[in-house]
Amino acid sequence: MSTEPASDFIRDMISADVAAGKHGGRVRTRFPPEPNGYLHIGHAKSICLNFGAARELGGVCHLRMDDTNPTTEDPEYVAAIQRDVRWLGFEWGDNMFYASDYYARLYDLAEHLITLGRAYVCDLSETEMGEHRGTLSSPGKNSPFRDRSVGENLTLLRRMRAGDFKEGHCTLRAKIDMSSPNMKLRDPPLYRIKHARHYRTGDAWCIYPLYDYAHCLSDSFEGITHSLCTMEFESARELYDWVIAATEVPHVPRQTEFARLNLTYTVMSKRKLLQLVVGGHVQGWDDPRMPTLAGLRRRGVTPEAIRDFCARIGVAKNLSTIDMALLEHSIREDLSPRTPRVMAVLRPLKVTITNWPEGQVEWLDAPYWPHDIPKTGSRVLPFSREIYIDQDDFLEAPPKDFYRLAPGRKVRLRHGYVITCTGVVHDDAGEVVALECTCDPATRGGAAPEGERIAGTIQWVSVAHALGVEVRLYDRLCSVESPGEDGRDFMLDLNPRSLTVVAAKVEPSLAAAVAGERYQFERVGFFYVDDDSTPGAPVFNRTVALKDGWTRIAAKPELAPKAVKAPQSARAAGDEAPLSDAARGLCDAHALTADLARALAGEASLLALFEEAIAAGAQPRAAASLLANDVLGDLRTRKLEVAPFGGKEVAELLALAADGTLSTKLTKDVLAAMFAGEGTPRGIVAARGLRQITDSGAVDAAVDAVLAANADAVARYKAGNVNVLGALVGMVMKASGGRANPGLVSAALKQRLA
Ligand code: ATP
Ligand code: MG
Repeated sequence: MSTEPASDFIRDMISADVAAGKHGGRVRTRFPPEPNGYLHIGHAKSICLNFGAARELGGVCHLRMDDTNPTTEDPEYVAAIQRDVRWLGFEWGDNMFYASDYYARLYDLAEHLITLGRAYVCDLSETEMGEHRGTLSSPGKNSPFRDRSVGENLTLLRRMRAGDFKEGHCTLRAKIDMSSPNMKLRDPPLYRIKHARHYRTGDAWCIYPLYDYAHCLSDSFEGITHSLCTMEFESARELYDWVIAATEVPHVPRQTEFARLNLTYTVMSKRKLLQLVVGGHVQGWDDPRMPTLAGLRRRGVTPEAIRDFCARIGVAKNLSTIDMALLEHSIREDLSPRTPRVMAVLRPLKVTITNWPEGQVEWLDAPYWPHDIPKTGSRVLPFSREIYIDQDDFLEAPPKDFYRLAPGRKVRLRHGYVITCTGVVHDDAGEVVALECTCDPATRGGAAPEGERIAGTIQWVSVAHALGVEVRLYDRLCSVESPGEDGRDFMLDLNPRSLTVVAAKVEPSLAAAVAGERYQFERVGFFYVDDDSTPGAPVFNRTVALKDGWTRIAAKPELAPKAVKAPQSARAAGDEAPLSDAARGLCDAHALTADLARALAGEASLLALFEEAIAAGAQPRAAASLLANDVLGDLRTRKLEVAPFGGKEVAELLALAADGTLSTKLTKDVLAAMFAGEGTPRGIVAARGLRQITDSGAVDAAVDAVLAANADAVARYKAGNVNVLGALVGMVMKASGGRANPGLVSAALKQRLA
């Protein structure tokens, strides 16, 4: 995963402000949730943007509870929000704020507005106010209370505050313009009466400020430089600016909007999520089916996966709904290298190995990690006369391309032997209840019998040693892409199979599994050990199945959401499909991983490019990796059948990367230019003056500049916050246009900061 900071229009804008010395070059953002529910993955987008941009640009980000509505807010939510922001990997330090702490200041400014003739107390009811508001095409009418005197308004506001009036009796309104084309400016209410106890201020107040009044002023009080919010606040920006100007507060923050995140197959508003919790449709805010951060955490998703997802979707203004499959893809990519592989059988079918002696147990050594993950460790698996395999791995009348077990057919038992199915046992209803097989002793460890090729490998566990466990198979929350579309009640779209609980059989080593661990059940999916586990009796939550829907979507560019980059790898994580002959040939000839070979063999034009590149002297692994990871993705996003360059150019590009002329980032830039038809790699490097900066003098200069401009970040690093280093590397890289050698930059920074 990329360590270079993402770039988007907001980060670019902030960088430009910093460069121009606006706000003294300071960056101060905020994430302002209302504590009326748990955070969801949409909030994660905003958190990654606000905290992320501040961190990358040497600024700070505040966490602010936007708590101006006493009836819906709760300290439980405040605690949950703090926990989730920290879990995602962000820290606010001393910058935790509450809008409710500003009630007195906000009130004083309201009196100030009245004094300046910019606000009035209005006795119209809500309905009457609506009638006076007018429409988009017709102006509104002035309230009959609009011209009250300053003295009368002050008296009335003080009486509102003193509790002299019932709820709804009157409101404080801004005096702006009832015929403004922006409806938001038609004398919006600023304060309303609410006789309700607030979780922090208790009964001290019975009038509460409205969002449009409290939010911008809170930003100003805190010295926020960039107030980032979602597009639905676009029309409120004029009012935001009006309140700041009218109240004459000294600090002027600036609001910028971006598109909110929407995801298919789920709902993402706290109101709807609360409905699910209260209605008992899920088991709480942290139910693994919920799109809340607490739910995703309990499902087994890591903060890294969520941050990767947020980086992939980027930040833009155009509304888009992201396919849930992309989130699932990020989760798989993240979990694959970090989960040990173990064996579990979800729907057990008993198999008797008829030629295996009764009572004999053989302990087979089984590594936890596949060969392409640089980790070691193994456990032993007992093999005995009776084993379980999954019901799905046997078919009595299989199609030709079914590579698992069937009468008379052979299959490889993972880490074990090749077995042949010799008998099928049925119950009275004709259902298959058990199998009989023989095992070939010469195939121990999975070797194919002389002269044969065994395509399929399946998981299994020994009956006598298996541990029976509860496995919770979570699926998507909703069964349709856009729940609640066209005004339908979204409850009707809930997926009735969003949770299936099965009694599974797992290998005995898992008796030691403890809550919080993650495993990959071979050929099944990624699993998380739930808090409900007790010693010796783990409960497993399915985080996500192995099958990757995203690779199929990415293969059809018209189905992929526009705003989304194709994933880096063409691999379906953990895909155990047998290798085609072509792919196997590639593996053998060039020592490629199965994934790379599969990707090349799956695309004729790619394979041809590969062969040409090798012929032109390219190193096979490097060529395969570039083609499978970068060229393939580009072909798909550009909807091209063949690349507009040949294998010779691929070899040339790889040579420039290998000799240090191009950094990873520059290699990608040059590749993009090759796709754009800008010529040969060397030509592009020359024309654009690209060339990686490996001269330490030049790197040092950039490092000095960044350190000088980020004294805050340097101080934090020296105070022990090592995370700052990554941000500084990013800044130097950015300052060099991605041309500096990241290794040199990192070394230079470390040396300078030591
Ligand atoms: P919801 O509509 O889900 O109830 P909200 O907007 O009412 O959310 P807040 O607590 O007010 O929730 O949101 C805090 C911040 O998170 C706001 O700045 C808001 O713009 C941002 N945010 C909320 N939902 C999303 C989303 N789906 N994508 C991106 N940002 C979001
Ligand atoms: Mg809101």
